[in-house]
Amino acid sequence: MTEQARTASPLAPARPSSPPPNRLSAAVDNALARPAAQQPQWSDAGAVHRVRAVLESVAPVVRVEEVDRLRARLAAVAGGHAFLLQGGDCAETFAQTTERYIAGTVHTLSRMTAVLTAAGRLPVVTVGRVAGQYGKPRSAPLDPSGLPSYRGDIVNAVEATAEARAPDPDRMVRAYVNSRAAMAVVNALLATGAVGPAGRALATSGLFTSHEALLLDYERAMLRVDARDPDAPKLYDLSSHFLWIGERTRQLDGAHIAFAELLANPVGIKIGPTTTPEQAVEYAERLDPHKEAGRLTLISRMGSARVRQVLPPIVEKVTASGHTVLWQCDPMHGNTVTSGSGYKTRHFDHILSEVRGFFEVHRALGTHPGGLHVELTGGDVTECLGGAQRISAADLHRRYETACDPRLNRAQALELASLVAEMLRP
Ligand code: PEP
Ligand code: MN
Repeated sequence: MTEQARTASPLAPARPSSPPPNRLSAAVDNALARPAAQQPQWSDAGAVHRVRAVLESVAPVVRVEEVDRLRARLAAVAGGHAFLLQGGDCAETFAQTTERYIAGTVHTLSRMTAVLTAAGRLPVVTVGRVAGQYGKPRSAPLDPSGLPSYRGDIVNAVEATAEARAPDPDRMVRAYVNSRAAMAVVNALLATGAVGPAGRALATSGLFTSHEALLLDYERAMLRVDARDPDAPKLYDLSSHFLWIGERTRQLDGAHIAFAELLANPVGIKIGPTTTPEQAVEYAERLDPHKEAGRLTLISRMGSARVRQVLPPIVEKVTASGHTVLWQCDPMHGNTVTSGSGYKTRHFDHILSEVRGFFEVHRALGTHPGGLHVELTGGDVTECLGGAQRISAADLHRRYETACDPRLNRAQALELASLVAEMLRP
């Protein structure tokens, strides 16, 4: 991010009547003055500034009341009284912001919700990786062909040309418009009961949205001030109900954690196998200073071979610190391998094993295995190996369609939900 792109601009109110307090503007500027990993090298700072000004004046994607409702429901999850299902694409694309595509994802989440709810013990809170999951962190700034890496549709295009890969700030406006469109499709599906008989649970309880809070020029432009209590105005990122910080941007002295600290939204942090128990406690102290259940979700993504060793001391130390965090398992990102034929993939058995390890750890410690976070699609893709369909390495090329990481297909997602339902049974 360039200095010019960071220049302060006034924060818009969540409602036209509430004035934006300067104190909050200064806090945002301070947070974003810290080093920010994984940001694009925009070539035109003036254009970034203009786009931000546009986004600061638009109607937000979600509403304050909805964010508050999710936060209350996540408090129930953290307290052991509900289960959180979160899923969707690794990277949504503008081209797939279609009613048909989104319906596939929503139907799959709906069926999974029904299966998990039927396990009997707990209500399910369902959150999609939808309506805004357009930014991607990358392991290297250049791809193997030497072009700038694809950073998600919010930054550049996936086509392998120098022109397509140049970061384009106007894409932030397109991301906003596509998020609004996706949100409208989701709401229409729920309102018309088009989620099917199995989807009654979802139609009643709703579907919340989430994405990784990665691209700071976008996220800061979607901040709105809620001054219902004029003495204690609050800052909401109304690009989504729930936002998480990724494994590559969770530096304790970095901009992303400092930004998340300022939000009234519920927030998550992905924690990989190098996370120490001390770091985990520091996340809890920074992001949950008032010890409010539902505020912070720690999303472990350790890998099936490590979860049983690495997770227990983290859970023990955070529990001893007195913070009631929501423990969620992402069994995808610690289990990625490259197949002989060169496809990035994940084996269903490893995914299942990490979830089992997560449940074992929490059962042994008496803490609540609160949720599941998966990458999935409603389509019949061949991106992850195994499952009842026994997808093999030789099958991967048939329908490998993801814009980023390999997703569970519909059958694999439902199979996983059935197996997790068994784990939830009393
Ligand atoms: C993701 O959720 O797509 C992702 C990049 O995860 P992580 O930050 O855990 O690697
Ligand atoms: Mn991913």
